[in-house]
Amino acid sequence: MYNITLIQGDGIGPEVTNSAKAVIEATGLEVCWDIVNAGIHIYEKEGVVVPDSVFDSIEKNKVVLKGPITTPIGKGFRSVNVMLRKKYNLFSNVRPVKTIPGTKSPFKNIDLVIFRENTEGLYIGIEKQTSENSAESIKLVTRDASIRIVKSAFEYAKNNNKEKVTVVHKANILKISDGLFLDCAREVSEEYPNIELEEMIVDNMCMQLVLNPNQFEVIVTTNLYGDILSDLCAGLVGGLGLVPGANIGDNMAIFEAVHGSAPDIAGKNLANPTALILSSAMMLNHLGEREKANKIINSVFETIQKGKYITKDLGGSSTTIEMTNAIIEKI
Ligand code: ATP
Repeated sequence: MYNITLIQGDGIGPEVTNSAKAVIEATGLEVCWDIVNAGIHIYEKEGVVVPDSVFDSIEKNKVVLKGPITTPIGKGFRSVNVMLRKKYNLFSNVRPVKTIPGTKSPFKNIDLVIFRENTEGLYIGIEKQTSENSAESIKLVTRDASIRIVKSAFEYAKNNNKEKVTVVHKANILKISDGLFLDCAREVSEEYPNIELEEMIVDNMCMQLVLNPNQFEVIVTTNLYGDILSDLCAGLVGGLGLVPGANIGDNMAIFEAVHGSAPDIAGKNLANPTALILSSAMMLNHLGEREKANKIINSVFETIQKGKYITKDLGGSSTTIEMTNAIIEKI
């Protein structure tokens, strides 16, 4: 029996977390769910964005499946999502981007994983207005955080027989901060003589991804570039509804889709549940439940490939619930 915290979140969060929960249960995994809530809808009801019960549950269970959370403007922190990653030192944001046969995209067979540094960079949120007409923000790069994210990427490459890790930076301009990140990548790569370290400047990386995404296997980069490249890569495989993610620390992990709360389609039973369902497969792998994780992945792929029960963003006309039920039936 696993104890897992489930945060439903805002917008399409309740719809996609319900789908993922039902899919996990269909595999027969025994879970004691601790369903807690945070976000703008809780703020409107209770006057607090993240109630203490959420922190307590995360700290007790250490494994979390999470829907997207919208942060009300001016409420102490700029993003609940960023705050949780930082508070629990979830330094590695892992986002696998894979072509699912049957999806509409000019590209085929994309299979790459983004390792995004998750605790510093421009996301530390230190900004100030220095005069009426100027503002500054600080980009923090530390050796420790850079080394550990690059190591995560190389360890993944080693364990999955990948030949190359691409480090993405802008050290030609940000010579000190991105320079340090790049130096750390070079240093770590020496411990992995069988894996090539490819260095790529972020602007060239964007062009290369759009021209030929198949040349990449594992990408490691800083917080902001990782955020932007994730959405770019989601576009390459058919959209945000398809890309899962994990925030991993030393003894805690939060699994969540790359997409946000999608307020334009919230509550309409239109959201594609794939991204969060695949995030839950990543969670099962993290728990060592590989067979059940593979069952989920195969059922999602089969459902999309058949194309009968797929949501509107994939060119179909099914609802979130219909697509979820089709996946469950395959399981
Ligand atoms: P946030 O600021 O919370 O990240 P956002 O507005 O930047 O949110 P999303 O909420 O991710 O971005 O939405 C971007 C677009 O992608 C929207 O048009 C949304 O409808 C679409 N989208 C996101 N997730 C899904 C999904 N699961 N299924 C279908 N469409 C989605």
